Amino acid sequence: MPKKICILGATGSVGRNTLSVLNQHLDQFEIFVLTAHSNIDLMLQQCQQYQPTYAVIRLDMADTLREMLQRAGLKHIQVLSGIDACSSMAEHEDTDIVVSALVGAAGLQPTFAAIQAGKRVLIANKEPLVMAGDLLVQAARESHALLLPLDSEHNAIFQSLPMNYGAANRHIKHITLTASGGPLLNTPLDALPHVQPEQACQHPNWSMGAKISVDSATMMNKGLELIEAMKLFALDAAQISILIHKESIVHSLVEFTDHAVIAQMSTPDMRIPIAHALAWPERMTTEVPRLNLARYGKLHFDVPDEQRFPCLTLAKQAAVSGGYAPVVLNAANEIAVAAFLNKQIAFTDIALIVEACLKHSDVLQPDAPQHICFLSKSGIRDNIAQILAIDHQARHVAQKVIAQHRHTGSTRLPPQPDA
Ligand code: NAD
Ligand code: MG
Repeated sequence: MPKKICILGATGSVGRNTLSVLNQHLDQFEIFVLTAHSNIDLMLQQCQQYQPTYAVIRLDMADTLREMLQRAGLKHIQVLSGIDACSSMAEHEDTDIVVSALVGAAGLQPTFAAIQAGKRVLIANKEPLVMAGDLLVQAARESHALLLPLDSEHNAIFQSLPMNYGAANRHIKHITLTASGGPLLNTPLDALPHVQPEQACQHPNWSMGAKISVDSATMMNKGLELIEAMKLFALDAAQISILIHKESIVHSLVEFTDHAVIAQMSTPDMRIPIAHALAWPERMTTEVPRLNLARYGKLHFDVPDEQRFPCLTLAKQAAVSGGYAPVVLNAANEIAVAAFLNKQIAFTDIALIVEACLKHSDVLQPDAPQHICFLSKSGIRDNIAQILAIDHQARHVAQKVIAQHRHTGSTRLPPQPDA
């Protein structure tokens, strides 16, 4: 029987790459659910090509999509709307595999639903892991969901570990996440304040959505990935380091206690981690060009310059602090990146906004509240609700910081508690 797939974020970069891998293997997989936010034309095309049972779209576009499908002779495709429909589809009893590829905190609830329902969850959407990784991993343990990383670095680490990873964890000494350094690696520091969204989104090695592209340019992406790796592989921040590797051929490395190092390499192309996670523990073919190391001749590795990438420093601080600090870091970053993409703030303001929100929320203090992992399912649900409340509050603070910064040039909010 073909495995039924629900792709959350089918119209995005990871969603499109997933469909491209599946194209060659439609005898083994059935496209059961496709979801999109607002790209209705691409959703229609994907429905025409893959004929899913369900299509999910933003609430105010559902009627239009229904009409478009009817005109195309596809009225048998059921149209649902909104994030709750994404969650219902992720936990649907007929869904076998969920590809979690929404962007940002919006993916937390559907990803959690998929995990609680014990699905095989291929997770690209890193922000939910940054916000609530402990809880998601714990929920997966309880429901026997299989969490397989799609982020290329985390997939590389997963591939470099033995099958019985749980037992091997004590043999891991250190991991290294590689980073391309993004499009601004060599831009003069004094030019960074003038960088425009189009420049920040021009990634040298990967074609990705706008938010992750900006995160790559600030290297916040690598900071989020550090926290993602801590959660997925039960490691401390001190066990993870970051190396700039501009060719993006070595996707990450694991060093074991005997100092042997295992790395995973390939042409930089998301279809490889996607195919790996779809087929695991087997392998399946892809159309990705084979790696030709002789063509590269040399591979380069370098330590990141944290003066150039202050977001990386902030993410490391949040990773070490733990508790709600990563939630605030992520929320503030999402708001700041959206403001930068809307040309409301400068590229270098992103780090200033995130820093101000972390300070204002007091989450970096040693006595800041930590969330507790309850053992019962309802306990995890309560914790997720609390994380969503902190996320909401942090977004509000970030909006206020941005408004203040635009009017006065200062990111410091008055010290009274936020209403
Ligand atoms: P993208 O912006 O290209 O696509 C996002 C998808 O989510 C789209 O289908 C969009 O319609 C949907 N979406 C966005 N906001 C939504 C909302 N509020 N409600 C419902 N649907 C919504 O993003 P992407 O580049 O594919 O990245 C997706 C996730 O995967 C991100 O968390 C990113 O960090 C991670 N990731 C991406 C890549 C990559 O190569 N693009 C690599 C590693 C990890
Ligand atoms: Mg990555």
